[in-house]
Amino acid sequence: MAYIYDDQNIFAKILRGEIPNQTVLETAHTLAFNDIQPQAPIHVLVIPKGPYVCFDHFCLEASEAEIVDFHRAAGEICRQLGVQPGMGGGGYRTISNAGEAAVQDVPHYHLHILAGRKLGPMLMRAPG
Ligand code: AMP
Repeated sequence: MAYIYDDQNIFAKILRGEIPNQTVLETAHTLAFNDIQPQAPIHVLVIPKGPYVCFDHFCLEASEAEIVDFHRAAGEICRQLGVQPGMGGGGYRTISNAGEAAVQDVPHYHLHILAGRKLGPMLMRAPG
């Protein structure tokens, strides 16, 4: 079963300028903006401008130019935020939810960059 991209998702509307956003960085193939419900003092979403549903869709079907642009943009955001652990920053976490198991709410690929507080263990343990 192939991915079907829903162009009515909220990030598609942001990309078309139908919904405002707090832009952090924009490049040829990538947009980054602040999450509307931040889970940490720094919570940036990085999205490709192309119609990709999730991480594996992007990795398998995006062009090399899009993939390089996306990751360079994400790195540049970490640099601009001053969170790079190798440069005296406090570190950060990147997360990308895909599909039902990960509770992906918006079906347009996005990378969360979280920082600015101790983020705790990577995953909550299941009860029991
Ligand atoms: P996910 O559950 O991984 O799909 O995450 C979707 C994220 O999008 C959540 O952290 C939401 O707070 C965020 N979000 C939803 N609508 C907006 C919006 N209009 N502007 C910025 N962030 C949004």
